[in-house]
Amino acid sequence: MTTPWQRRYAQRNQRMGGSIIRELLKFTQQPDMISFAGGLPAPELFPVEAFRAAADRVLVQSGSKALQYSTTEGYQPLRALIVEKMAHYGILAKEDNVLITSGSQQALDLIGKLLINAGDTILVERPTYLGALQAWNAYQAEYVEVPIDDNGLQVDQLEEALRAGVKFMYVLPNFQNPGGVTLSLDRRQELVELADRYGVPIIEDDPYGELLYEGEHLPTLVQLDCEHLESRACDGHGYFRGNILYLSTFSKTLAPGLRLGWIVAPVEVIQKCVQAKQGMDLHTSIFDQMVAYEVAKGGFLEKHVRTLRRVYGARRDVMLAAMERYFPAGVHWTHPRGGLFLWVELPPEINAEELLQDAIKEKVAFVPGHAFYAAGRSSGQLNTMRLNFSNAEPEMIEEGIRRLARAIEQRMGGRMTPVVTPVPAMSMN
Ligand code: PMP
Repeated sequence: MTTPWQRRYAQRNQRMGGSIIRELLKFTQQPDMISFAGGLPAPELFPVEAFRAAADRVLVQSGSKALQYSTTEGYQPLRALIVEKMAHYGILAKEDNVLITSGSQQALDLIGKLLINAGDTILVERPTYLGALQAWNAYQAEYVEVPIDDNGLQVDQLEEALRAGVKFMYVLPNFQNPGGVTLSLDRRQELVELADRYGVPIIEDDPYGELLYEGEHLPTLVQLDCEHLESRACDGHGYFRGNILYLSTFSKTLAPGLRLGWIVAPVEVIQKCVQAKQGMDLHTSIFDQMVAYEVAKGGFLEKHVRTLRRVYGARRDVMLAAMERYFPAGVHWTHPRGGLFLWVELPPEINAEELLQDAIKEKVAFVPGHAFYAAGRSSGQLNTMRLNFSNAEPEMIEEGIRRLARAIEQRMGGRMTPVVTPVPAMSMN
């Protein structure tokens, strides 16, 4: 039955859907559930005391500023801190190149608002970050998918799509969500050259870059783009103006509840984003920005990131070792050098969505892979899943993998019970 409201929704809402992960999050909050589903940081590592002290300082020293309306661009000292941080990763930006956003998720939405006309084609990785698809579906984007392998986006498959015309490319070079893979240096170089040759911008989404557990940091696409464009990347004052919009966030290094991210872009793009953001939320919470700055400054953030690397790196190792021990032959997975996720490919006859029903009975959860394909279930990769290794403690990771292995083995053993009821309240897009 159609309700009167259904007739009133704008056309662009037709492809808007809920996120399976948000839905699963509700479901996995049962106390005895081991969840590999969300991309949640380890809550016991949140620097709660540092936040308490910082909030106190902000309120005592600048309470009236912290509680007042503020500028859209963001808190100047925090932008300066980001500029410094970016320089460390080879990105020579100035404060005018930085816009603070309410999480990177808002940056994705801003980019959609700014760049996407209904029917525009966006080139995305296959699989890709579900939240980007969610943001851009609302702007009626179409997608062309290019697969990833162990070295990230298969850049040799880009040209056909670029020739056919795409509005921009969306790439996650470091410890990709959901794949866990890293784009190799030669592919990074080839990618920025292709972007320049075809005049197609790249959205470089890098929430996990700092969470590196093995090997060296690879240069960002922004850095390689500037090197490739040479003088064309500067406007004579040293301002960056390349082909790439770079996104990152404090969600994985400080706390996702802050909702603080940023965009680094040419000044003219930042100015347009500022206008677009004013229509969304006027500005990101100035209180949050001031507190985050107080927490992050003076080397605290770098020290905290070193702790995260140590703890998450160890959790990754526990998960990989447990998979090696318990998973049956025929199951394959990626070996992430950083980030929060790894990607599992099950034998082709196993449908991960159906497996999830069994897994939930075993009190373990994951996200079925189809959620991360722009083409959804129709793209045929139904035997895949994403596992998160940052949220559960090592013993729980070991136990969760054991339970998951049991569920996989039961399905492989032919005792496949057809799924009748879907997971409650789960909507998939
Ligand atoms: N991009 C990617 C690739 C992500 O994984 C996430 C968070 N899961 C985001 C953007 C959004 O992050 P934020 O919390 O900063 O909005």
